[in-house]
Amino acid sequence: MGANYGHFTSEETKRKISLANKGRVHSEQSKKNMSAGRIGMKLSEETKRKMSISHRGFKHSAEAKEKISKAQSREKNHGWKGGIRKSTGGILVLCPDHPFANCQGYVYQHRLVMEAHIGRTLLQSEVVHHINGNKFDNRIENLMLFSSNPEHLTYHRLCRSGLVPCSGKTDV
Ligand SMILES: [Zn+2]
Repeated sequence: MGANYGHFTSEETKRKISLANKGRVHSEQSKKNMSAGRIGMKLSEETKRKMSISHRGFKHSAEAKEKISKAQSREKNHGWKGGIRKSTGGILVLCPDHPFANCQGYVYQHRLVMEAHIGRTLLQSEVVHHINGNKFDNRIENLMLFSSNPEHLTYHRLCRSGLVPCSGKTDV
């Protein structure tokens, strides 16, 4: 009985051995898989190269985006240049962030020039006079600042009466 049992056991062992052999076959296959894996690693290196190429491609696309954004900013700048226009009161500059911009976001250029000259924002009551009477000549040497329009108009009256030297032209 014991021998039979042992024999039976040995048969089971044989099965186990055969299973183990199958396992070895599997392990051989796994070795092949490993070698395939090495090939896979090589492929992955190639893939990495491809990825780096594609990454470069992404960089190019990023550069393209920058170019696009620059082009858009150029368009904005162009629009900003287009934001200078003449009116009967002089040259208007699109300056929507200015505290005293009009409802359309424009500020008189002669006021901006005077503000840059004196280093502060002009009060709304203050008036910039054009000495030579040309409201489109916004050179700082052509500009005079008055604290109010009545003062400005008084100056013009004095000009007309010859009490102060002036071009004889009027900018009002
Ligand atoms: Zn004036």
